Amino acid sequence: MTIEQKLADAKHLCDQRGARLTPARELVFKLLANSDGSIGAYDLLQELQKVDPKAKPPTIYRALEFLMEQGFVHKVESENAFVMCNHFHDHHPAQLLICDTCGDIQEIDSTKIEAKIDEVAAEYEFSVIHPTIELHGCCKKCSKED
Ligand SMILES: [Zn+2]
Ligand SMILES: [Zn+2]
Repeated sequence: MTIEQKLADAKHLCDQRGARLTPARELVFKLLANSDGSIGAYDLLQELQKVDPKAKPPTIYRALEFLMEQGFVHKVESENAFVMCNHFHDHHPAQLLICDTCGDIQEIDSTKIEAKIDEVAAEYEFSVIHPTIELHGCCKKCSKED
């Protein structure tokens, strides 16, 4: 999917939900859509300031919060950074395969993992609020280059 298609999808969903994709939010969206790996809030701010020199950290954090609420972006907790979601369903737990060599992040959507988490949590009578899975390792491309 091209960035334009993703953006069109996002705009359509925002319209349906009565949410507003402001210019700052749209720009942060594009920056994330352009990246294979994750981007930190500080790098996003620097990029945003090229277009809007008045942009401040709260601008970025509000934009990221909005994009996460809409389910367009996931936070990569282990890198304290953000990545574009590859399917804009409503809230779903992020399952990420993170390559430590090239920084590429693939999102997987495994209902098997989800079901297993529910099963194990139930066993421990634990309520999961934030079922993010981040698997660090080496992607297919990088392991072939070795
Ligand atoms: Zn996702
Ligand atoms: Zn890799």
